[in-house]
Amino acid sequence: MDATAAAPHTSRAPWERMAHGGGLLTGAGELSGTVFEEMSRLAARTGAINLGQGFPDVDGPPEMLDAAAAALRGGGNQYSPVAGVPQLQEAVAEHQRRFYGLEPDPASGVVVTVGASEGLAASLLAFLRPGDEVVTFEPHYDLYGAVVEFAGARLVTVPLEPPRFSPDLDRLAAAFGPRTRVVILNDPHNPTGTVFDDAVLSRVVGLAAEHDCVVVTDEVYEHLRYGGAHRPLATLPGAFERTLTVSSVGKTFSATGWRVGWVSGPEHLVGAVRATKAYLTHSAATPLQLGAAAALRLPDAFYEDLAEDFRQRRDVLVQGLAAAGAEPFEPQGTFFVVADVRALCERHGVGDATALAPVLAERSGVVGVPVPALASAAHRDLYGTWMRFSFGKRRDLLEQAAQRLAG
Ligand code: PMP
Ligand code: GLN
Repeated sequence: MDATAAAPHTSRAPWERMAHGGGLLTGAGELSGTVFEEMSRLAARTGAINLGQGFPDVDGPPEMLDAAAAALRGGGNQYSPVAGVPQLQEAVAEHQRRFYGLEPDPASGVVVTVGASEGLAASLLAFLRPGDEVVTFEPHYDLYGAVVEFAGARLVTVPLEPPRFSPDLDRLAAAFGPRTRVVILNDPHNPTGTVFDDAVLSRVVGLAAEHDCVVVTDEVYEHLRYGGAHRPLATLPGAFERTLTVSSVGKTFSATGWRVGWVSGPEHLVGAVRATKAYLTHSAATPLQLGAAAALRLPDAFYEDLAEDFRQRRDVLVQGLAAAGAEPFEPQGTFFVVADVRALCERHGVGDATALAPVLAERSGVVGVPVPALASAAHRDLYGTWMRFSFGKRRDLLEQAAQRLAG
């Protein structure tokens, strides 16, 4: 086993990053929150096609919009209970049963949150104390690093190595230690599009049991799966009792701006999340929770069509990137494709994906997210020439983006 495999997250603290971030890629010099926001600003400034920040460019299902509008007009405009409106708690529990055979208690085993973001933050803040450690794969969604630091804890990351991005289970085991308190598993995985197989899931469960950790799973892309159904880690033997499962309306129902998400699991864990969440935001927007409840109850055909639609868009972008000289890794989930853009770097005379981002925006009119921005300082170089592109966009835009990249 390689003990050096798991490196601590050594980048700057979030507030320091904020002070620096604005100038990192855009030279804009203003305060910047996240790389996603920064890339959207770059796209807006240059008029480029924004395949950076992941958000759909269509509205969600009409049933969902109608239910929210009816709630808004029908007096559903005051605080909801901290754990959410009972209709949404029920709908989440039903959804977990319908798709996965999981049976969280609707009242005590489901908490509605302000997006998956708050679900993740509340789950981490509920269980972390200063000096604790959290294990996750990298590259990873940026929020994990920031919230772990807010808690005074330390993120220990295990790299998914290009070009296959498959986890090394010995390195994963080596990342656990006496201070490990939480494991975060993002499946399907942003940014790589990897889906973890049963061997990985059961190893995570085994390691979590051995070290008595809470597992927080980030499953916001659960319904964007290609060539197979999603399998939540909580369905593995012995897993449910130590797992908090997090998801949201954002990706499944094209409503990233609604900021409605949820955490489900056993009462003894979900209760701590609810207690923490009460002092973050109290509760999520009431009418939108009612819209989300209607959305979750859509028939299976909605979910099947969604996955098929995204699979077709994935193929358009993967083929387009390959035709443009990049080397894409075909994702099995999410609406992201990562690609080795070495050839594009050479064509544009720059050294890596971070330098390429503003150049591509200006010259080709396309924005992607440099993968090094989602990696720790220790492993950033592994992803130097990798860039993430989102296919959560209209097909004609994806085709146009690919042509621009090739030109
Ligand atoms: N986790 C991952 C992996 C994500 O990509 C995102 C961004 N959508 C989130 C969490 C946050 O989700 P939400 O918008 O529901 O807060
Ligand atoms: N989840 C989206 C992404 O990875 C963006 C979310 C955000 O802007 N924080 O691109």
